[in-house]
Amino acid sequence: PAREKAAIIGGGVIGGGWAARFLLNGWDVAVYDPDPEAERKIGEVLDNARRALPALYDKPLPPEGALTFHDDLATALDGATWVQESVPERLDLKHRIHADLTALAPAGAVIGSSTSGFKPSELNANGARAIVAHPFNPVYLLPLIELVGDADDCVRAAEILRSVGLYPLKVRKEIDAHIADRFLEAVWREALWLVKDGIASTEEIDEAIRMGFGLRWAQMGLFETYRIAGGEAGMKHFMAQFGPALEWPWTKLMDVPEFTDELVDLIAGQSDAQSGHMSIRQLERLRDDNLV
Ligand code: NAD
Repeated sequence: PAREKAAIIGGGVIGGGWAARFLLNGWDVAVYDPDPEAERKIGEVLDNARRALPALYDKPLPPEGALTFHDDLATALDGATWVQESVPERLDLKHRIHADLTALAPAGAVIGSSTSGFKPSELNANGARAIVAHPFNPVYLLPLIELVGDADDCVRAAEILRSVGLYPLKVRKEIDAHIADRFLEAVWREALWLVKDGIASTEEIDEAIRMGFGLRWAQMGLFETYRIAGGEAGMKHFMAQFGPALEWPWTKLMDVPEFTDELVDLIAGQSDAQSGHMSIRQLERLRDDNLV
C-alpha cells in the first residue's frame, strides 16, 4: 500500500519531534519551515530519535519513510493525511497559517496544532478547522497527545495517533493550557517563589522532584498515588486527613512573584550552574536514555 504522508508546518523543537515520530513509524514526511536552518535542526532531532525510539519496541520498526523539505506550502500539503502545525506560540501567526492550511490541505486531512495554550475556538476564530493535538517534548518518546476540538475529528485523530505509538487523551471541554500544562503552571509558580525567596536552588528543587514524588507521578499519577497513601481506607480517608490542612495553601498560594529581570537572572544563573557543564545535546541524550 502507498505510504501515509504527514505535513509538518514549523520544524523546530516540537515539529522536529513530530517529524521523527511519523518517519520512524514508516510515514513520508514533508516539512514546511522558512528557516534555512530547519533541515539541520530536524536532522539532529532525528539522530536522537533513531538512537532512542527503537529501544521501546520489541520488534523492528517499519522502514523509515521519505523526508522532504518544501518552500511551497501547497506542495508540502499535497496528499497529506495528517497536517501538524508547530509554529511559534503567537495567535496572529497561528491565524495566518491556519487560514492557509484550511484552504490548501486535502479535505479529509486532520489538521492538528501543537499549541500549548490556545483553545480551538481561538485558533479557528476566522473559520479555520484545526483541532489541538498538544504533544510533549520529546515527541518521539513521550506518548501523550492532548486532543481538543471537534468530536469527530478527534476520534479520527486518535486512531491515527495510536497507529504511530502515541497516547491520545481527549480533553472534555476546551480550557486555556489544556490539562497538563495547566497543572504544570501551578508547579512552576511555586518553584519561582522557592527560588526567589532563597528557600531552595533550582538544583535542590529538581532533586526534590526526581528523587521523590516525580518517580511516583511517572508511574501512577496524582490520584492513585494519594489513594494508596490513604492506606486501606483509601482516598476518602486521605482527603479527610489532609484536606483541612491544605485549605490554607490551596486558597492562599496563588500569587505569582513579579517576573523581574533579576528573578530571571537568578534562575538562569542557578540553572546554568546546575548542568551547564553539559551541552543541551548531551542532556537530551541523558534524558532520552532515562526515559527509555
Ligand atoms: P520553535 O521556536 O523551536 O520552532 C518553531 C518553528 O516554526 C521554527 O523552526 C520556525 O522557523 C518555524 N516557523 C516560524 N514561522 C513559520 C511559518 N510562518 N511557517 C512555518 N514555520 C514557521 O518552537 P517550539 O518549541 O517547537 O514550539 C512550537 C509550538 O509547539 C508552539 O505552539 C508551542 O506552544 C508548542 N509546544 C511546545 C513545547 C515545548 O516544550 N517546546 C511543548 C508542547 C507544545
